[in-house]
Amino acid sequence: MATTKTHKLGIALVGLGKYSSGQLAPALKETEYCYLAGIVTGTGDKAAKWRRQYDLPEQNIYSYSTFDDIKDNADIDIVYIVLPNSMHSEYVVRAAKAGKHVICEKPMALTVAECDEMIAACKNANKMLSIGYRLHFEPHNMEMMRLGQKKIFGPIKKMQAEDGLAEVEGWRLDKALAGGGPLMDVGIYCVQGVRYTSGLEPLAVTAREGVKKNKEKFREVEESLTWEMEFPDGIIAECRTSYSEQLNLLRAEAENGWFQLTTAYEYEGIEGETSDGKMKFPKVNQQAKQMDDFARAIIDRRPTPVPGEMGRQDVKILNAIYKAMETGKRVTI
Ligand code: NAD
Repeated sequence: MATTKTHKLGIALVGLGKYSSGQLAPALKETEYCYLAGIVTGTGDKAAKWRRQYDLPEQNIYSYSTFDDIKDNADIDIVYIVLPNSMHSEYVVRAAKAGKHVICEKPMALTVAECDEMIAACKNANKMLSIGYRLHFEPHNMEMMRLGQKKIFGPIKKMQAEDGLAEVEGWRLDKALAGGGPLMDVGIYCVQGVRYTSGLEPLAVTAREGVKKNKEKFREVEESLTWEMEFPDGIIAECRTSYSEQLNLLRAEAENGWFQLTTAYEYEGIEGETSDGKMKFPKVNQQAKQMDDFARAIIDRRPTPVPGEMGRQDVKILNAIYKAMETGKRVTI
């Protein structure tokens, strides 16, 4: 491996909710090229708890109002934005202006215009931007990329992707903060999955909103959604997402066989099979691999495989799916 390890890059997590506390901070104990150097939180109690738990120096603890002072902190090389979706663009731009490399959680933002601003801010600051697409570093999903893009079973004819949660609460049901319902949150993995399995870009989409079983809970966002993506050569992807049904599938049917993940997008327990038999890959810490790859990209001065431009393309597709859902028409990308 080309990377020479001089010192670990420091990461500051912004937003200490479930994903930061349950996945990212623990993963940063396993990383080799980066570590948890600081935090940004609006809650004093959380700051004190994290400070103790992760042995963080007082000067590396920021609030949303002192956030911009990160510019003067040499311990922090990378700022990782783990806030509700609508806040991503503001904090990525502020992190770039503070002269830091940035990782932004998915979905990158609510609109393409916001994505453009975020990409431009990082470019102007000469800093790198990546999206928290952890599955690009997960062996079963990487195998889907290999099998599909290298046409190991011949050209793909059809794809299927489903991702849904049985239960959600909080800001994910608030359109202003989330930008939409399950499509923004987990349906995005279907869009990602069919893009990286085929290595192709969709030309057009059609979509239908599912019937709302709980109209009060889902008054602002869709409860479920099915959509089709049309790719070149007549390849179709049939997709589905939900906030009231557990779904987890990524499947491709090709000329000479099929390959699929029946648990495709989880942090662990991913299972894969092809028409030739079961996939056998080791379990990895996806978040540790993802953050280490970004740190190594910075150290080695090479591009990240999950850049802002990839997040922007997904936001463009998500918006086209919503337009198709609202108009009932086929929307070209
Ligand atoms: P969460 O609700 O658990 O945490 C959100 C954090 O943002 C909290 O600490 C909260 O205090 C803070 N916050 C600041 N301003 C807020 C406001 N106005 N309203 C609500 N919260 C506010 O959410 P989460 O599950 O940690 O998700 C955070 C981000 O991470 C989202 O963009 C989500 O899509 C993404 N995420 C990604 C993955 C993944 O696998 N890559 C998994 C989970 C979440």
